[in-house]
Amino acid sequence: MSFDAEAKMQFVFALRSQGVTEQSVLQAMEKIDRGAFVTGYFTERAYEDMPLPIPCGQTISQPSVVGLMTQALQLSGREKVLEVGTGSGYQAAILSQLARRVYTVDRHRRLVAEARRVFDTLDLSNITAFTADGSFGLPDQAPFDRILVTAAAEDPPGPLLAQLRIGGIMVLPVGQSDAVQRLIRVTRTEQGYDYDELRPVRFVPLVEGLAKDS
Ligand code: SAH
Repeated sequence: MSFDAEAKMQFVFALRSQGVTEQSVLQAMEKIDRGAFVTGYFTERAYEDMPLPIPCGQTISQPSVVGLMTQALQLSGREKVLEVGTGSGYQAAILSQLARRVYTVDRHRRLVAEARRVFDTLDLSNITAFTADGSFGLPDQAPFDRILVTAAAEDPPGPLLAQLRIGGIMVLPVGQSDAVQRLIRVTRTEQGYDYDELRPVRFVPLVEGLAKDS
């Protein structure tokens, strides 16, 4: 299956019906072919609104969840963004269309290597991918205007809160990994942090340390 006009139309229709309404987000998702981030047997299902397995026992998120999380970041095109949980690289690729610069980290070296290859193929030159434990953020590149975490922690990790610029926004799932989690948005103000709850979600857990294969 290819991401032709018909597939794009259905893909965007499904996104809209799930509440992804921001035009710039829909355009980015129409442009970036999710099929490039899914390999093997599951390529056939790349344009369905469902999470799919990727190597290292991880998952590429459901497109509508990618859309809603991206929308919640309220990007203008000028931001420096950190994504924790590169996975397939799909979410980072969407962010690259809507922000100035994207840093993305994963604890699996193999996933980072494969994502980098796809970024090169698609000529997405404003993404830098690292193998790192993202719960510590990326102190050398901080502060960030936006932070997106695509693995669930019980609470927002302290280093990530600290690396968010004043006026910045972080979107992340919180809650126990085997239960339904809540997607929350944290806005850093002069006085502290404001929290609002967006919707229930289900993500793989944020795990400490680099993976053994790394
Ligand atoms: N955003 C991805 C999906 C992420 S799945 C996509 O678009 O495909 C969650 C990812 O978080 C997994 O790849 C997992 O390896 C990674 N992860 C879990 N804990 C982590 C940690 N502490 N630091 C960095 N990455 C982590």
